[in-house]
Amino acid sequence: EARIVILGAGHAGGSAVAFLRQYGFAGPITLIGDEPHAPYQRPPLSKAWLKGEADANSLLLKPAAFYVEQNIDLRLSVGAKAIDRAAKTVTLSDGNVVDYDVLVIATGARARRLPIPGADLYGVLELRNAADAEKLKTAIGPGKRLAVVGGGYVGLEVAASGRALGAASVVIEREARVLARVACPALSGFFQDYHQAQGVEFELNAGVEAFVGDEGKITGVRLSDGRVIACDAAVVGVGAIPNDEIAGAAGLALDGGIVVDENARTSDPAIFAIGDVTRRPLPLYNRMHRLESVPNALEQAKLVASAITGRKAPAPEVPWFWSDQYDLKLQIAGIPFDADRIVIRGKVEAAKFAVFHLKGSQLVAVEAVNAPPEFMAGKMLIGNGKPVDADKLANDAVSMKEVAA
Ligand code: FAD
Repeated sequence: EARIVILGAGHAGGSAVAFLRQYGFAGPITLIGDEPHAPYQRPPLSKAWLKGEADANSLLLKPAAFYVEQNIDLRLSVGAKAIDRAAKTVTLSDGNVVDYDVLVIATGARARRLPIPGADLYGVLELRNAADAEKLKTAIGPGKRLAVVGGGYVGLEVAASGRALGAASVVIEREARVLARVACPALSGFFQDYHQAQGVEFELNAGVEAFVGDEGKITGVRLSDGRVIACDAAVVGVGAIPNDEIAGAAGLALDGGIVVDENARTSDPAIFAIGDVTRRPLPLYNRMHRLESVPNALEQAKLVASAITGRKAPAPEVPWFWSDQYDLKLQIAGIPFDADRIVIRGKVEAAKFAVFHLKGSQLVAVEAVNAPPEFMAGKMLIGNGKPVDADKLANDAVSMKEVAA
């Protein structure tokens, strides 16, 4: 039987193992991860876990016993160093060499760092894995002041969790609004207002020039206008970089991530890649894109398990994502590529609304705040491509069921 080796024991790699066994693959599987933990969920690291509402065990994708029962060769705290495609081997950081018939690269992404003075001070943090989250949790608490560099989803979640733990939070963002890269101005404004009402401070249009410190420990963030924002810790959340170096060194096609096809196969037919590390086709949008989300990791894990076990590939999914801040449940479906019109439905001031992005009469994305029916119906409409009546959509007296009919 084919020997499967999976590099990266994160959400994608761990899910691929589970789907392979679920789909009946009984052959040898080796799962290699450079963290000391079996695959776990990252989203709670900035949300429930950070606030103390979830423990480490509850983060695991599968209990430790699963890997024993399912006869998975799980190797932790060891990294993959090099892939030899001709010999079909992977060299590991502990000196071992493993053979594969089919290789799955699921190495995810890492936090982007700021190449500025003071970046190595104690208290300058990032948030990508459980070890980062432990450090962050010990750094914040009542009476502490947390600076969050970067007003993206993770940054805002950390600011909200910081408030929940009694710390002061200040968000420092280079753009004129938070979520500038991912959300429309209406949604950015809503989130900023909501955070301000919870006591979060904002520095917008603010370039970060340096971290300043005393005796090796951070005391503040210096902005390009010379001001220093005092803090006890700073979390840098300015995006993620795909861990695609070993794939590139092995000659696989890269383009800001490992290029894969609709079955998650790379330019080498014996090698698949899944999760945050990939640049993948989005059939619904007719373009290539790199997604960073749990639903994407799961979808591609299913694709790879289907391809390996000879199952029919599942139908393409509408990309989606979520974020939790305070009592706000944000759900996003689709991506607003080429959208030419925005329709807002519901009540922004009541924190229950949805922003629909249309391209002509077609829905391409929806951002729903505490509005699951809008999210669900919107996701369906994006998937089936039915034309949408914008007037009905804007009128919340007309049910989403009728809009989607
Ligand atoms: P990862 O889960 O990052 O796993 C990759 C693994 O491979 C890591 O353990 C890494 O250490 C390991 N690795 C890397 N290189 C090597 C190597 N050479 N050898 C061995 N191992 C290696 N998504 C959502 O949909 N909703 C959310 O609310 C949400 N919130 C998030 C909050 C935070 C704080 C973070 C960090 C992410 C969040 N995400 C969220 C994104 C989501 O967690 C990722 O999209 C998902 O984890 C991607 O899975 P992956 O397996 O591709 O990568």
